[in-house]
Amino acid sequence: MVTEIYDLGIVKDEQLKFAVIVSKFDDKFVYAKHKKRDTWEIPGGHRELNEEINLTAERELKEETGAINFKITPVCDYSVKREGQDKDYGRVYYAQIEELGELPDFEIGEIGLFDYLPEKLTYPEIQPIILKWVMKYRAEDEWFTIEKIDNETYAISEYGHWEKVHSYLLIGKNKALLIDTGLGIGNIRNEVEKLTNLPIIVITTHVHWDHIGGHCLFDTIYVYKNEVDWLRNGIGIPINVIKKNIMEKPFNKKLPIEFNIDNYKIYRGEPKRILNDNDIIDIGQRKLRIIHTPGHSPGHICIFEEERGYLYTGDLIYRGTLYAFYPTTDPVLFKKSVDKISELKGIARLLPAHNDINISITLMYDIKKAFKDIEDKNMLKQGSGIFDFDEFRIKI
Ligand SMILES: [Zn+2]
Repeated sequence: MVTEIYDLGIVKDEQLKFAVIVSKFDDKFVYAKHKKRDTWEIPGGHRELNEEINLTAERELKEETGAINFKITPVCDYSVKREGQDKDYGRVYYAQIEELGELPDFEIGEIGLFDYLPEKLTYPEIQPIILKWVMKYRAEDEWFTIEKIDNETYAISEYGHWEKVHSYLLIGKNKALLIDTGLGIGNIRNEVEKLTNLPIIVITTHVHWDHIGGHCLFDTIYVYKNEVDWLRNGIGIPINVIKKNIMEKPFNKKLPIEFNIDNYKIYRGEPKRILNDNDIIDIGQRKLRIIHTPGHSPGHICIFEEERGYLYTGDLIYRGTLYAFYPTTDPVLFKKSVDKISELKGIARLLPAHNDINISITLMYDIKKAFKDIEDKNMLKQGSGIFDFDEFRIKI
């Protein structure tokens, strides 16, 4: 028996005779056991006469698992060639089941939830191949990109969105620290839990929607004192403006299956700790210093880990356009903040909250100089416009 996989669009629709649906519920794979068998199979079945293949998939998923609420998406097509027979073609789907009801009284006697593949399979020559393909598709499709900075430090990036936001996970001896929680498009907590079991503290570089998107998934939130009010009561930007911002440019990646812009909300909540300038956060053999760097926002902070020389710069330093043009920003303070961090001794690496993650330390000094030039021209005030430099622009 030979199983082959095809990208969508190669196999003709009329050739497709089956739909199989790799499904997940509660982060486990869902398998079905036929009443007359004692082996497990991926839910799926025959396409009925004149039935649209997508409807076959939905019908089979409901019949074989009892799924009530789910999101389903086609992944690829496959063929199985048995000796002496023609190829049989089918389409593979991935479904995220949100609600399981009672199993309808058809052919399936039981469903089972497994981390990967059960041992006893009905089609051991087909199912592992299909599952592997779906996993590969899902990995390429993962909303978050995880990059190892060192053994205990990770960047969790969202390259699928035009803002290219980075959050950072720092693993200490007894706690983990998450610097910002991203856009709130994918579930960042799931990513964090793949990397650590430790209790998690979330530190907010500033209370802008693109850095607090996943705050709702965590209990322990720290924020700088000047933005406590924004965290509690919101920043005052209408939700439809923020939604427009999220959807402004096309996504470079497929959106997570669970994402729905209609349900997008901005986090509001009570911080567990209110931060001050020079506070030290100790997560066990790792100490982080809070550096108040207002300008982009009133309570913006950079976080400095002296021992490793890491400076997490938030929206103060990155490659791209730096923003100090809207009412709650302050170009004069922005400049002062850049000056302030330029004085720090022992910076080995800058870790920005946007765009290119590999930036050189000289970028910070270039930005410092740029602000000085703007100030010297007496233009360091809001409404002066956009100033273009090599690697960055300043909009004030
Ligand atoms: Zn930002």
